[in-house]
Amino acid sequence: MALVELYRETGEARYLALAGWFLEQGGVTNRREFCGHAVRAGYFMAGATDYYLESGDAAYWSAIHSQWQDMTQRKSYITGGVGSRHSGEALGQPYELPNDRAYTETCAAIAAIFWHWRKLLAGGEAIYADWLERTLYNGFLSGVSLSGAEYFYVNPLAESGLGEDDPWYAWARREPMTRRPWYDCTCCPPNVQRMLAALPAYFYSTSEDGLWVHLYDNSRLEWRLPGGAALAVTQETTYPWSGKVRLRVSSDALRPFSLFLRIPAWAESATVTHNGEPVDGVRPGSYQRLTSFWRDEQVELDLPMPVEQMESHDLVAGNRGAVALQRGPLVYCLEGVDHRGLDVRRMRLLRRSELAALHRPELLGGVTTVSGSGCFVTDYDEQPLYHSAQNAPMLRLEESPLTFIPYYAWANRGPSSMAVWIPCAAESD
Ligand SMILES: [Zn+2]
Repeated sequence: MALVELYRETGEARYLALAGWFLEQGGVTNRREFCGHAVRAGYFMAGATDYYLESGDAAYWSAIHSQWQDMTQRKSYITGGVGSRHSGEALGQPYELPNDRAYTETCAAIAAIFWHWRKLLAGGEAIYADWLERTLYNGFLSGVSLSGAEYFYVNPLAESGLGEDDPWYAWARREPMTRRPWYDCTCCPPNVQRMLAALPAYFYSTSEDGLWVHLYDNSRLEWRLPGGAALAVTQETTYPWSGKVRLRVSSDALRPFSLFLRIPAWAESATVTHNGEPVDGVRPGSYQRLTSFWRDEQVELDLPMPVEQMESHDLVAGNRGAVALQRGPLVYCLEGVDHRGLDVRRMRLLRRSELAALHRPELLGGVTTVSGSGCFVTDYDEQPLYHSAQNAPMLRLEESPLTFIPYYAWANRGPSSMAVWIPCAAESD
């Protein structure tokens, strides 16, 4: 990435050629699978995509795309995190995505964001920005505390809330899992700060056709089009808690140009108005193109955010019969502190439970929670390890209301159990 950047700054072809030489030694164009150390592999592929952007070498694009498909279709958590193995901080086999033993280093999420971003610049398709957003709000953001001063290196999707005296665990930790202000190997904390500092640059980009809006939050852009015309955009929204976004766009451009608005794939009945007029043919998972002179004009987006019960590929062994809740771009989890300190990995969600979203400004810096009905298995400790399926013991279930919080906000109220994937209670169907 740095060599291509140096080439862009200086215009000296030898830097691009050296980047190409490194990529060749790494065998990028011969590989179809995304494997190895998750952080380094992600950086390497982000660099390869930069190289493709400058060289236009088609052999790179096909290899990059195969590896990106491998990552997002077989090796990514629902949080966008990657790198499931503690051993070697590595990517696992396809569908090897354990929840409690997930390594999913914060830096690997950052590397994935780098790569999604470059794929977006090269391909211009909304799916890359959708993955960027998924990783940003979930697998990356869980790496830093709400105070902004403590960090996770490892981002599991389930946790006991207890110490784990297990040498196979990174650092064989004996304390419950909490974020720390620093690590002996300090890659993640400064990397998080770098990512947050660079975040404004991920909101927008320009092309010959106009301005692309990739992310939504309160913001003000003052920029220029490739032809030099000035451009200003103001966004007002409470995203990601609500999907209503108001944009005011003004420009002194002499010719009409286009505004490209990302309609996330999850926003199934999204609507757009331009100066109050409804726009036809809005399609989730694409960029909505609006063309005008943009003399102080207004666009309103409504991206409905129902709570979705998500399921995973059947080969992800730990997620069979379980669902994860998602609302808008946010993945949710259960935490013990909201459930009498119980181990939430023993919770089940009633499949037909109503799931209600409620904004709670006083909780965790202001979050929208999701409540539902479930039950708690009270007698797991009395169950035999194996039993004949014909004489299966009945599980004792105790009804319990469930409160889901955004995954990124977990572990901000002391040590606690946590689970993203919740088995469904078939008994109550
Ligand atoms: Zn790191």
